[in-house]
Amino acid sequence: MKILVAVKRVIDYNVQIRVKEDGTGVVTDNVKMSTNPPDDNAVEEAVRIKEAGKAKEIVAVTVGEDKAQETVRKALAVGADKGIHVKVDEIIEPLAVSKILHKIVEKEKPDLVFMGKQAIDDDCNQTGQMLAALLNWPQATFASKIDVKDKKLEVTREVDEGLETIEVNIPAIVTCDLRLNEPRYASLPNIMKAKKKPIEQINVSDLGVDTKQRIKQIKVEEPPKRKAGIKVANVEELVQKLKNEAKVI
Ligand code: AMP
Repeated sequence: MKILVAVKRVIDYNVQIRVKEDGTGVVTDNVKMSTNPPDDNAVEEAVRIKEAGKAKEIVAVTVGEDKAQETVRKALAVGADKGIHVKVDEIIEPLAVSKILHKIVEKEKPDLVFMGKQAIDDDCNQTGQMLAALLNWPQATFASKIDVKDKKLEVTREVDEGLETIEVNIPAIVTCDLRLNEPRYASLPNIMKAKKKPIEQINVSDLGVDTKQRIKQIKVEEPPKRKAGIKVANVEELVQKLKNEAKVI
């Protein structure tokens, strides 16, 4: 079995995001970037399935500028066998990413595609679903447990009511939740070995995909600043303030 894992480079989740003064986006210059956190879970799960002898090859793919290759290198350092970097310099929307991944799936012919449940930069939660639609493959989204069973997957999903377990036929798309596993750290020897693993470079123009932006971003704003809190002397004062000032009880 072959697993394709999609990894996106985003602003590191520990970074305090700053909005550009002209409201056209967020500041990315000199800001620490990392792999989108649920994509680390997707890579980890693929590696565990391979270690269990249920997959033979893991291919990590990213779509983005040259620096996006760092995410592929990281995936190679924790166990992916091969990388693909689809070079795109402009902003790319989930629909275009899913069309690009569609082309990569046609080329690589994986049995499974693992992705993150959503990218923490734009919180779209769309790419996996749109890729499943383009391929006409079953999808299991928000996976918090995956069992590979012959030609099927049993996937537990986090839904509002609790946990839902579904079965999907392979080939399938799975989008991974943070609770799926604990991603491992890459060891130094594995980081060194990963430098020798191949990363195929593909120019987006060679894929014949329409990457035109369809969404117009009007404005990006900081959320309203929270007012400073106060300390109350005792429970009576707290209740009095909740009743009379905040008017929430
Ligand atoms: P989104 O639909 O943007 O929230 O992204 C969902 C998932 O799609 C991410 O967690 C990634 O696995 C994948 N994805 C989105 N954009 C890219 C990209 N530029 N390169 C690789 N994978 C991506």
